[in-house]
Amino acid sequence: MERLTVLGSTGSIGVNTLDVVARHPGRFQVVALTAHRQIERLREQCRRFHPEMAVVADAEAAARLAEGLRADGLDTRVEHGPEALVAAAERADVDQVMAAIVGAAGLPPALAAVEAGKRVLLANKEALVLSGALFMEAARRSGALILPVDSEHSAIFQCLPVDERARPRTEHVRRIVLTASGGPFRDTPVETLATITPAQACAHPNWDMGRKISVDSATMMNKGLEVIEAHWLFGLPPERLEVVVHRQSIVHSLVDYRDGSMLAQLGNPDMRTPIAYALAWPERMESGAEPLDLVTCARLDFQAADAERFPCLALAYRALEAGGTATAVLNAANEEAVAAFLDERIGFLEIPRLIEDALDAVPVSEADCLEAVLTADAAARAHVRRRIEEEGAHA
Ligand code: NDP
Repeated sequence: MERLTVLGSTGSIGVNTLDVVARHPGRFQVVALTAHRQIERLREQCRRFHPEMAVVADAEAAARLAEGLRADGLDTRVEHGPEALVAAAERADVDQVMAAIVGAAGLPPALAAVEAGKRVLLANKEALVLSGALFMEAARRSGALILPVDSEHSAIFQCLPVDERARPRTEHVRRIVLTASGGPFRDTPVETLATITPAQACAHPNWDMGRKISVDSATMMNKGLEVIEAHWLFGLPPERLEVVVHRQSIVHSLVDYRDGSMLAQLGNPDMRTPIAYALAWPERMESGAEPLDLVTCARLDFQAADAERFPCLALAYRALEAGGTATAVLNAANEEAVAAFLDERIGFLEIPRLIEDALDAVPVSEADCLEAVLTADAAARAHVRRRIEEEGAHA
């Protein structure tokens, strides 16, 4: 039995992971599950998978969950808080850790899993955006395997030769091409974007995802974060990482080799495919995704990303080129701006404006330790919150 922790089990990736796991009885043992606020959903998951440990945000949530589990006759131990997340990730009896907490909160447990030398299934792209150099160096030291879960990075990983430690080789690669769906506003007139609501931004045409990543997809910051993630996972400089808009989300990304060959991975847009690939690597297993019918999908369109429509993409390249803690500033400013947009405190077009403002204002330093990264993260958050307050006061 492969022993598994799912960090963020109540989210979109977490639920899909458990769906794949449930298709393979006897292969995986779920040791720990973690959630933040969705206690009832976590309780249901505990009833189904009988983990030894469940983690929630705070003592009150933990007491509620523990009471529910006792009533269910389960002896799952309930813990709470950031230290408990780290403990769930680095448990000695765990082989694989699915890192699927959203945002910077996912970094400490994901890094703990890497430092403990686990096989880490990485969905939490913000971990690499915040601290890619530290993360990859920790994996090198501990021997941890990093298996990408993001569909684009899984596609690239599947198109590259990799060694037995899941380390990709890129010496014959000319460039990597990441595909982007263009999100819900790829055809919306640019002059109407100012009045977009959170509900519209979260209605993605091809993928069913959590709210934060759905907004990132609508602004294309998601693709910007993925360019940074690809830089750390595959070691290519920004100028060899390209983005094209591919509205059908069938080609999940491509690798362009120096001999003129281009390899792509195709499939229906269903996160269970990359999740199953990461869980089973180097083998493959049934995921529950519908097989792709090429005749039904009939055509595949590609077009350049529109810089005027999607300013967040250029901001991500700018941060990657600046290096150091600039990508941590980008990520933190984005998280704050997206949260404010989802709360209807700012408009859609304020998101890129606030991020640019933070990149201009927050000083960048070497990202050589976690403290430097977290300091930059905190400074950028404080800056964006202050700006929102000031502007709210003037409005
Ligand atoms: P969701 O918002 O659906 O789920 C997030 C999970 O993290 C939930 O279990 C949530 O708990 C938990 N969580 C939220 N905040 C905290 C916190 N402060 N501390 C601890 N746990 C927390 O997100 P997604 O599943 O969509 O995304 C997860 C990650 O995977 C993100 O980094 C995203 O970028 C990445 N990803 C997602 C894809 C997708 O298709 N959804 C595709 C590729 C990458 P609760 O539910 O209890 O609040």
